[in-house]
Amino acid sequence: MSDVYLDHAATTPVDEKVLKAMQPYFGDIFGNPSSVHTFGQRADAALQKARRSMAGTFGCQPKEVIFTSCGSESDNLALRGAALAARDQGKGNHILISGVEHHAVTHTAQQLERLFGFDLECIPVDRYGGVNPDSVAERIRPDTILVSIIHANNEIGTLNPISEISTLCRERDVLIHTDAVQGAAHFPLKMDDLKVDMLSIGAHKFYGPKGVGALYVREGTPLIPVQTGGSQEFGKRAATENLPLIVGMAKALQMVHEEADQRLKNTQKLRDRVISNVLGAIPDSTLTGHPERRLPNHASFAFQGLDGNLLVSALDVEGFACSSGSACKTGNPEPSSVLLSMGFDRGWAKGSLRVTVGKDTHQKDVDVFLDVLPVVVKRLRELT
Ligand SMILES: *Cc1c(COP(=O)(O)O)cnc(C)c1O
Repeated sequence: MSDVYLDHAATTPVDEKVLKAMQPYFGDIFGNPSSVHTFGQRADAALQKARRSMAGTFGCQPKEVIFTSCGSESDNLALRGAALAARDQGKGNHILISGVEHHAVTHTAQQLERLFGFDLECIPVDRYGGVNPDSVAERIRPDTILVSIIHANNEIGTLNPISEISTLCRERDVLIHTDAVQGAAHFPLKMDDLKVDMLSIGAHKFYGPKGVGALYVREGTPLIPVQTGGSQEFGKRAATENLPLIVGMAKALQMVHEEADQRLKNTQKLRDRVISNVLGAIPDSTLTGHPERRLPNHASFAFQGLDGNLLVSALDVEGFACSSGSACKTGNPEPSSVLLSMGFDRGWAKGSLRVTVGKDTHQKDVDVFLDVLPVVVKRLRELT
């Protein structure tokens, strides 16, 4: 039974202002944006406003913002859509992804390899889980059609040099997608800086509602729709638009941009407090991911000879919600593939803990957590 939430990389609560912005679209403004009548037109006006608002924060054109149902769907649409478009146009077969992608990218890429015959290659990461631009450059071939590199890893928080990577991809005329689902919660992402062709976000990671996301698709990027039907989303994704959630996502993204500095200050201070305390108080512990180039709210560790899932359960009993590795791997006894690909051996990789604070996390709660954690770790180590 936990009541202190330290798992903001898994999901975040919907901000009150976001909830308020969505409310009318569950009620009075319920029309289908594709309908010709006034009900439809009112809905369409709100849809276009949300799209313009998101395009404004990204610094892109409204028609480059495709609404989806989640970050996972955005990743799926980016990879599958671009790969199938390349196939359709008789281009090459080679896809490059990093060794620390979210499953929404890895499993999609693996399916493209297994069922569609694409040639998938994984780019190794350094010991911090970072992707070196040279490692990308060195693997690009004449038949490479797509590179997908995560902007900030969800398990270990490491940030990747996306604009450097996108620059070298563009020089070689290869499409570049980035999964920015984590980063979008902290940084006002600008497409002019990132220079990618496609970028995925999901609203529930930045105080928006679950079940809605977006894919930025640069104008002119060939993309075959994964979900076919009506001509919504510029023919790139069929479905009657989920207007309440889209309005909520636009509001939540706008708030990230408005509050970024203040949120960064709050979370970074708490993150650094967690990191220095844990490493100082717990023997045989190490930080996973890059010490500086990491998400501002993200502290992740490995403890030797400990079971991360047991640790998370024990912390829950003490009142703290954290995670071990990624939330998508609940109950999976296997050590994290991300940590293994960074060179951790199994004895360390099994004992991972992720602590991610939020914009409203209180320091006093963090301090109680920091008192409790070493005691719990010691107790579990004595048991095994
Ligand atoms: C959460 C997450 C996803 C999946 O997003 P959903 O909206 O939950 O589908 C994809 N990539 C990363 C890096 C994530 O953290």
